[in-house]
Amino acid sequence: MSAETKGRLAGQSALITGASRGIGLAIARAFAREGADLTIAATNAERLAVAAAELAQAGGRVEVAVADVGDMSALPGLVDQTVAAYGRIDILVNNAGIYIGKSFLDYDERDVDDTLAVNVKAPMFLMQAALRHMVQQQYGRIINIASTAGKWASRNQAVYNISKHAVVGLTRCAALEFAQQGITINALCPGMIQTDMAAGLEKMHAQAGGVTPETVHGALLQRIAQGRFLDPAECGELAVYLASPEARGMTGQSVLLDGGMLYV
Ligand code: NAP
Repeated sequence: MSAETKGRLAGQSALITGASRGIGLAIARAFAREGADLTIAATNAERLAVAAAELAQAGGRVEVAVADVGDMSALPGLVDQTVAAYGRIDILVNNAGIYIGKSFLDYDERDVDDTLAVNVKAPMFLMQAALRHMVQQQYGRIINIASTAGKWASRNQAVYNISKHAVVGLTRCAALEFAQQGITINALCPGMIQTDMAAGLEKMHAQAGGVTPETVHGALLQRIAQGRFLDPAECGELAVYLASPEARGMTGQSVLLDGGMLYV
């Protein structure tokens, strides 16, 4: 990053998981626009390469890491790669997540293990790896992508809600331990955002409820005051604020971004 680079995140380095599409890519786009150097991680090498080529056009540097965050042995390498490339890690965004929607009685142990590995254990151990550097730097910003499902109950997705409640708890506990070291740790809790995951959610809920995905979509819209699914770019804008030096007084929070959702 050259000294002339402008932007709210100029000269900062960020590791973003699940940045090949959806919310993660939108956050990467917003960070790149604000002058950050990036490491983007996901499992699909081709999609990552397309994303990296687009992001590099903003002028910053982009490292690509093909990794399954459900494999704990892969996690320290993501932080190491970022530090090797940029000399430090200023921002970690734990965004990669999976969603398995089923009625409560249909979940099996594999569903629980897979969901908790990607949605909870990966953020936990990536935070550990990143925090070791952030403590030395006496500076860091961690953003964990949780969900409205981390704050409330939902039908037919108990295991996902368990995982997102855990992300909110993880965020609160870690924020407390590192609050006096220039490090903030917050959760961003989206409601319904237009991504592949949301489309998959509608199909799974349709299956669990014996209705069509269109019926599920209509019912979800009824619960959102603004009557719309949000654009992933809207998550990018909030993530820029949470990642910025200006957000230094905000930590341990779980911030809803949901168009005014009703929780019933
Ligand atoms: P998405 O469209 O399904 O994208 C998920 C991203 O994570 C992709 O880049 C995917 O890339 C990556 N990924 C998935 N499993 C991975 C793994 N094991 N290792 C590494 N990367 C992995 O999901 P999204 O809607 O953008 O959701 C992003 C985050 O927001 C998730 O944590 C989700 O729970 C949360 N969220 C979403 C919504 C919503 O309405 N969409 C609402 C609330 C919260 P590859 O497939 O290439 O690995």
